[in-house]
Amino acid sequence: MDLNVEEILKKLVSFPVLGGESNLSIIYWIKEYLEYYGVVVKLVPNSEGTKSSLHCRIGPSTDGGVILSGHTDVVPVKGQNWDSDPFLLTDKNDGKLYGRGSCDMKGFLACCLYVIPTMIKANLIKPIYLAFSYDEEIGCLAAPDLIIDIKKTYNEKPKYAIIGEPSLMQPIIGQKGICVLRTSVNGSAGHSSRIRQEVSAVHEAARLALWLESKMNALVESGSIDERFHPPHTSIHVGVIEGGIAPNVIADKAILRWDIRVIPKDNTAEIIQEFEEHCRNRVEELKSIFPGFEINTIEEHPNVPPLDTSAEDSIVAFVQKVTKNHTWDTVAYAAEAGQFALGGFESIICGPGSIAQAHRANEFIAKSELAKGVKMIESIVEKLSI
Ligand SMILES: [Zn+2]
Repeated sequence: MDLNVEEILKKLVSFPVLGGESNLSIIYWIKEYLEYYGVVVKLVPNSEGTKSSLHCRIGPSTDGGVILSGHTDVVPVKGQNWDSDPFLLTDKNDGKLYGRGSCDMKGFLACCLYVIPTMIKANLIKPIYLAFSYDEEIGCLAAPDLIIDIKKTYNEKPKYAIIGEPSLMQPIIGQKGICVLRTSVNGSAGHSSRIRQEVSAVHEAARLALWLESKMNALVESGSIDERFHPPHTSIHVGVIEGGIAPNVIADKAILRWDIRVIPKDNTAEIIQEFEEHCRNRVEELKSIFPGFEINTIEEHPNVPPLDTSAEDSIVAFVQKVTKNHTWDTVAYAAEAGQFALGGFESIICGPGSIAQAHRANEFIAKSELAKGVKMIESIVEKLSI
């Protein structure tokens, strides 16, 4: 096989696997690649067997190893104005490689795979693991099962997890948690003149939106601030309100779609609990007007926990050493890093390419970034070898 890093990336980009779709094509190719080098690969399929994560260990069964984590799915290209075929890695001789996922985050996967022969040859005294997931782009859905399987499969305990999301190779120690919710309000219909005799779902939805905004403001005013993040507080935002058919008809149905992005010190579950309690009280109050009045909230995506690695944790110094980048920062986007941290591994985000290029038309990764990604992993191999 012996492909160079660009050839590997080209192959990975050629699999047009979007979040939510079957990723078996790309995961089987990666499995075959790893097996060519004698690596034992464990697949972690979903219950239908239509998608699969993958993990493997290179090196001895010893505590203190490093997990390199990435996702195999990408975001859609529909409606985007691409100058080249998004699923054909294109070198325009401007130092960049264009293609969907080149940056987010098949670039990092290619770096990991490229260094495999070096890992095999090295005398690793601590192991390196690869952990590749699916459905990251639609809510980090696969990582929890992948992490459980890693803990079940290996007797030893890996110490660090490096999530190679594009960060221009800067160590990222914090990420907000995110939860996306949907609240349905069931009121009573009627002529608009009867607004005091009926329960308008639209009016109630509007009140709930304002309650959520007040909740956010109360958190900020109570001093719940984390200056590492931009903005430095938890945000609660209603992005969609739907409901009603005409100005003179009381709306019997309305829907709110909203999200919570928490700083690590705030708790998503507590915020939702308080909201639910408020909703229960409203239902009690309004049931005397309309007995069928209801408010129901569901999670559109499972909660993704925040990442809250301390700048003093040893993984920070470790990644700073292998990247030669002695800074750190936080990010606003959601990633699997908080899930790995929750799984008991010191976790950090650090990978090649810029998040500014992710998810857009003409996504690219600079060749220099790809080289830095390779260098980081080679340095990790060196650090973990005799
Ligand atoms: Zn990503």
